Amino acid sequence: MEIEFVGAAQCVTGSKHIVRTDHATLLLDCGLAQGRRRESFELNAHLGLDARSIDAVILSHAHIDHSGALPILVKNGFDGPIYATPATRDLCAVMLEDAANIQISDARYVNKVIERDQVDMDAVEPLYTEADVVRVLERIVSVPYHRRIYVGKGVHLTFLDAGHVLGSAVTVLDVEGTKKNERLIFTGDLGRRNMPILRDPETPPGATTLISESTYGDRLHRPIEEMEGELAAVLKRTYDRGGKVIIPSFSLERAQEVIFVLKKLQAKGLMPKMPCYVDSPLTVKITDIFKLHPECYDEETRALVTSSSSPFDFEDLRYVSEKEDSKALSSSGEPSIVISASGMCEAGRVLHHLKAGIESEKNTVMLVGFQAQHTLGRRIVERRKRVKIFGVERDLRAEVVVMNGFSAHADQDDLVSFAKGCRDQGELRKVMLVHGESGALGALRSKLGEASFDDVTIPARGDRVRFGQ
Ligand SMILES: [Zn+2]
Repeated sequence: MEIEFVGAAQCVTGSKHIVRTDHATLLLDCGLAQGRRRESFELNAHLGLDARSIDAVILSHAHIDHSGALPILVKNGFDGPIYATPATRDLCAVMLEDAANIQISDARYVNKVIERDQVDMDAVEPLYTEADVVRVLERIVSVPYHRRIYVGKGVHLTFLDAGHVLGSAVTVLDVEGTKKNERLIFTGDLGRRNMPILRDPETPPGATTLISESTYGDRLHRPIEEMEGELAAVLKRTYDRGGKVIIPSFSLERAQEVIFVLKKLQAKGLMPKMPCYVDSPLTVKITDIFKLHPECYDEETRALVTSSSSPFDFEDLRYVSEKEDSKALSSSGEPSIVISASGMCEAGRVLHHLKAGIESEKNTVMLVGFQAQHTLGRRIVERRKRVKIFGVERDLRAEVVVMNGFSAHADQDDLVSFAKGCRDQGELRKVMLVHGESGALGALRSKLGEASFDDVTIPARGDRVRFGQ
């Protein structure tokens, strides 16, 4: 039996791992590569695998770097089931639709450049459209947490709560071997304990093989409880300057967590009297899906949901869907909080808010999520003096605040203790580290070495690693 690493190997995006057992070929995640436009386009256009050879897909969660290439897989002839939790299925409906629209406008942009610069190149087609997304949705089989199901001869799947985003799952595959049974665990993206809204990640014992994410394998997060005070201080000083707080945020989870914490601040009287806008149609849709899945919440949030008020509404909070309202908001000078997507500032309405606000010392840009290399978000984190927005260089004069405490990813300690938990009651022989940049991967490998994990590898794209006995 073997695992082939097709994506998110020695990098963060494009999660795709093929598990081949004696009788079944399963694909763990089918994510889009993100980063430099041309490079990602090539990587995504050629999936790096034979879609027809895959019997089933197991999807860990709805983030696009894990789910966004499913329409390409189906387009290339995959016709098996896609297993996902019920919340992941619902989120995919809106997130893949949004991704299809981005593909269409990306292709339009590239074709415009080809025509304008008379590049010797054929016009490009969008990687997929909404019709392909519908074909993906037809294939999704919803599997609730903790229900063990048959996914192929000699292979059973159980999803556990990963505590990363709504519906996110740790994948547990029990495989009957010729000599011994195997338990292969894939973290997907692993969350953190004590985060608002979601339950804590669950750790399955008895693993023989572990594929672990490593996003923050070299870092320790500050406790989420400290974020409340820090956020209140940022709001107050920006308000005192008469400025805006612009929060580029992933539409899934981070936005809802920020809203949830703001609601708490307001209830405690710690929020200045400034309006808060959620300016992202996708975030609005996703927040509605949150309301449909209280089975994914922790007790504190469930109590809030069952009481009269929603955890995602408070006085002075407005959801903005219409384009005209968004335009009016970005040109207005009123002190306010604006939560907008995309989270890495690569596309979406947040670009208009940054364009209008980044050159003023009064304003604050607050980054609350991971910023990959070669993205505008990363350049803002690095506090470059000038950044390019819509092709025009602009001075970065606004205050930049990075709050990794909001991170939905496990840190180094969390990842090591998850691996230790998986080793309990079993004989964990192999650990493979994926979904990280080189510094994070290396640091996590040495930490695991200190904790007596002897066989820890960092596979490259295309590597095949044997497992089982
Ligand atoms: Zn994720």
